[in-house]
Amino acid sequence: MSKKTVLVSGGAGFIGSHVSVELLQAGYDVVVADNFSNCDRTCFEGVKKITGREDLPLEIVDFCDEAAVKALFAKYPIDAVIHFAAYKAVGESVAKPLMYYRNNLQSFLSVLEAAQEKGNVNVLFSSSATVYGEPDAVPVTEDTPRKPATSPYGNTKTMCEDILRDTVKASGGKLKGILLRYFNPIGAHPSALIGELPRGVPNNLVPFITQTAIGKRECLSIFGNDYPTPDGTCQRDYIDIVDLAKAHVYAVTRMVEGKMKEECEVFNVGTGRPVSVMELVNAFEKVNGVKLNWKFAPRRPGDVTAIWADPTKANNEMGWHATRTIEETLKAAWAWECHLAGK
Ligand code: UDP
Repeated sequence: MSKKTVLVSGGAGFIGSHVSVELLQAGYDVVVADNFSNCDRTCFEGVKKITGREDLPLEIVDFCDEAAVKALFAKYPIDAVIHFAAYKAVGESVAKPLMYYRNNLQSFLSVLEAAQEKGNVNVLFSSSATVYGEPDAVPVTEDTPRKPATSPYGNTKTMCEDILRDTVKASGGKLKGILLRYFNPIGAHPSALIGELPRGVPNNLVPFITQTAIGKRECLSIFGNDYPTPDGTCQRDYIDIVDLAKAHVYAVTRMVEGKMKEECEVFNVGTGRPVSVMELVNAFEKVNGVKLNWKFAPRRPGDVTAIWADPTKANNEMGWHATRTIEETLKAAWAWECHLAGK
């Protein structure tokens, strides 16, 4: 089969850069597109270094600009597009809902307009376990009912899922779609050349842990120790970023090789393994031999008690499995923080 081309919107970010590496290593041509509104060039340069692809195309595009997105589809022979370009800070979305709705919906609409106009494009949307809200039972399968989101950010994920489904349905077979619902992506590439680069104070647990361990933050607050869980702290499904990135290669291949069973499919991308905040902190200290300054703090509003994936569908249908242990992942996260600090 001739080489297929994948456009990665938001390809210079945390998830996008890891996905670009895995796609290139699997033999796809990749076009990275980003407007660098929430990241710098570090990860894009890292992708080139890891893959030896100095010629990797980079397009600086704001995906809200529909004409610019259409021009991209005219310039490259795009077989699939993976859409990451979106704002992702939950708290900020509560304060600035219009900014989130405008950016996250408009950018995806541009992608779909361009894909529809071109035809025969496979669309992969990066969704989130946030669409399950506080689930009635865990683990969650893809059939677990979605719940109203607790933030505008979460709402944009639910809305984009519906927009993709409706657009694929109306396309008369011209478009296909996959929704990947991510659980908690953490870690970094084993090369320590790409990883998470939060701007300002991190909202997410693992970057906060690594920044505290390196001395950039004083103390980690563990939000809530009175949850109805085995140790009182919240449980999540932490998925290694490289495992997560590989799921995209499986999904794209499934689409371009015409192996889909439905024209719009949905898969959970998680490990199936619940880990509490306390367990994660303890594992981080143990595996990296560092002492972390932490304290219990009040619950964070909007947090769900416990959620983890039933990944059976992705395992059986796509042949994808999470392979890395939480210890390997936390080692990689720490190696990345040390690399950033020049240590
Ligand atoms: N968390 C914490 N301290 C922090 C950041 C997060 O205790 O500084 C907890 C948070 O309450 C949740 C878990 O870590 O239980 C994962 O939070 P994160 O923001 O990384 O992801 P979420 O599951 O909220 O999308």
